[in-house]
Amino acid sequence: METLLVLAHVQDDGALSAADLETLGAAVGLAGALGAPLTVGLMGKAAQAAADSIATCGAQAFLAVEGEDFATARYATDVAAVEALARKSGATLVLAPATSRFARALPGAAVRLDGRIETHVCVLTPAEGTLRIQRWYYRQRMQATLDRAQRPWLLTLDRGVFAPWSGSPGTAALEKIEVAPPACRTQVVGYETPDADAQTIRPDAKLLFVAGAGWTRKQADGQTHVPEAEKLIRDFLDLTRASLGSSKSLVDQSSESGAVISFLSHFNQVGQTGATPRHPKGLATCCHGEEPHTVGWRFIGERRAVNLDANCGWAIGKADVLYVADAFQVMAKVNELLK
Ligand SMILES: Cc1cc2nc3c(=O)[nH]c(=O)nc-3n(C[C@H](O)[C@H](O)[C@H](O)COP(=O)(O)OP(=O)(O)OC[C@H]3O[C@@H](n4cnc5c(N)ncnc54)[C@H](O)[C@@H]3O)c2cc1C
Repeated sequence: METLLVLAHVQDDGALSAADLETLGAAVGLAGALGAPLTVGLMGKAAQAAADSIATCGAQAFLAVEGEDFATARYATDVAAVEALARKSGATLVLAPATSRFARALPGAAVRLDGRIETHVCVLTPAEGTLRIQRWYYRQRMQATLDRAQRPWLLTLDRGVFAPWSGSPGTAALEKIEVAPPACRTQVVGYETPDADAQTIRPDAKLLFVAGAGWTRKQADGQTHVPEAEKLIRDFLDLTRASLGSSKSLVDQSSESGAVISFLSHFNQVGQTGATPRHPKGLATCCHGEEPHTVGWRFIGERRAVNLDANCGWAIGKADVLYVADAFQVMAKVNELLK
């Protein structure tokens, strides 16, 4: 019979993140379907408050590796904590959110545990008392169904796929696991974060707003209007808190010395060689909707686009709604209505 361990990093404020709760939701569902016992494994400075917040999730045990050494992201301490929790729980299946922190530490833990790991898991299917998973390959073009005989099997679960666990708090009987901090060369001295307004990539936003290269092209009057485009996009983001995506052509212009939208970087790029974000809705503007771009939209629920060209890529089934219109005029009106 399988036994499950679900891992989470306690945040600085003592709470669990949205990604942690999604993975917990998936683990609770899987444990129920398999009839398997579930253990929660927490890592962080202090874990009791986080354990209490999920005390009624149905887990049989709550384990924690606590202390200043395990509060911040660092491979050596994270991998030691994961290894200790996995050994203590005796889990055959270990689930963690696909955060950068777990993505870095979990493969090392899998080696130490003589286990195997799958990353970016998006489907968990209980099958005959065990588990089959699904994940995408080749930029979401191929989906594979996998199972494995080797245990423990470690899995990182993609964000935005599983419903987050929700329930009432309680008092969890937290068992603390002592882990001697390994010798570390890396000292974490603090965080440097951009201003809230400078951060335009917002994975939790309900809307993805994509800006394409058309914003910097000559318009009907034969002129470019980049400052105006910047203001329209910035105002829309400020008013809606949407996440900003871009086409490759637009972000490439900075390295090609073209006119650029100043707050865009390659991190904003959506598509085959960019990101594949998950938002309930997406709005593409001045973007042609070519396949290498729209492949990054696979997980966007409802898709709309504004383009002057009625024959653009969005018109051939890539968008639910295409507005054949001037995006400068449309976004000016939208911003006016939003204010
Ligand atoms: C191997 C490979 C990988 C690639 N990976 C990616 C990727 O990851 N992501 C990506 O985006 N691309 C990728 N591309 C490039 C992709 O094929 C396209 O070239 C790119 O997406 C085009 O960007 P665009 O639509 O912004 O620009 P354009 O093709 O120049 O389109 C601009 C659009 O703006 C419209 N427009 C202009 N003015 C207005 C206006 N006032 N109102 C409304 N519409 C207006 C025009 O009608 C036009 O459709 C890749 C290509 C290759 C070969």
